[in-house]
Amino acid sequence: MQSFKSIVENHDSFLITTHKSPDGDAIGSVTACYFFLKNKKKRVTVLLPDQPADFLLPFLQNVDYKVFVNCDLDEIQEMLKMDASIHMDYNDPSRVGSEMSSIFNQLTGPSIMIDHHPNPADFTKFSISKVSASSTAELFFEILEETKMNDFIDISCARGIYLGIMTDTGSFRFPSVSAYTHYVIQKLLSLGLNHSDIHEAIYDDNSLSRLQLRSFAISERMELIPDTPIGIISLRSEDLRRFNYKKGDTEGLVNVLLSIKGIQIALFAMETDEGVKLSFRSKGNYSVNDFASNYFSGGGHKYAAGGQSKESLELTISRFKSLVKKHISQDE
Ligand code: 5GP
Ligand code: MN
Repeated sequence: MQSFKSIVENHDSFLITTHKSPDGDAIGSVTACYFFLKNKKKRVTVLLPDQPADFLLPFLQNVDYKVFVNCDLDEIQEMLKMDASIHMDYNDPSRVGSEMSSIFNQLTGPSIMIDHHPNPADFTKFSISKVSASSTAELFFEILEETKMNDFIDISCARGIYLGIMTDTGSFRFPSVSAYTHYVIQKLLSLGLNHSDIHEAIYDDNSLSRLQLRSFAISERMELIPDTPIGIISLRSEDLRRFNYKKGDTEGLVNVLLSIKGIQIALFAMETDEGVKLSFRSKGNYSVNDFASNYFSGGGHKYAAGGQSKESLELTISRFKSLVKKHISQDE
């Protein structure tokens, strides 16, 4: 953790990155780090691989951020000249996409990864990895406290930390929540943070079509495999078109499966322009990260992982079904 402190104290300009399709922890962590560094009077730019979902945009207000896919070469070169870089909520350069991952060969200053996913790759000069942390945002708070830089946490920084912890813990309910998680929240609220605003911004942001897509997915596209703890929701591109799909509309839908009594392994599969996007979730003795990395070019955490498939939706689902049965018998 001291490596982070010495990078911060000894440099003036910083590039902060996070993974593709950023979630609440990704945006929460990078914005928390952004405001922390601004409070330290540093020059800071956040570089996102792609455009975040609309519901996360309020958290990027007053943040100087750029989206890699919209940047020209000059802008990218400018960012690569920054004194140091901080890479948050991912454990492998492939998570920023193949084009943006080339920046790791071009960064000149010290780089540091801050992350909580298992099996981190060695792609930065320094790394702070803690798999037991509920979220990267929680780990970021811990680093600031441990290095005695927590005086630089203002309300904007606290908002990011709260956002990351709240979204990565399913609002403080997953097994990853610890006494320390609640200690962090206590500290954030003591600063005067308005937590209910953050819940509202994230969870009360539905459009009618988004709710209708979700109810259609549950009533028409959900399958529970009999005599197993496995449930699947799959959406075709025509379903997405019908309900005017926007990025983020299916966020958390996979968790609906786990809310069904007896379901402990869940798959959400969705057709996209780049193939089928997969989200895996599990509970209890079942873990999904190895399964996702072994069979679906993905990875993640024990209970929450993602992946992709280049096959059709139908073939992907049938491949999942045959593989998952084997996986279950191995795990039990
Ligand atoms: P989600 O299902 O919400 O997209 O992702 C769940 C978890 O899996 C997140 O922690 C995310 O970082 C991870 N994840 C999602 N997609 C991928 C992927 O393609 N590769 C890897 N290594 N991790 C992923
Ligand atoms: Mn995370």
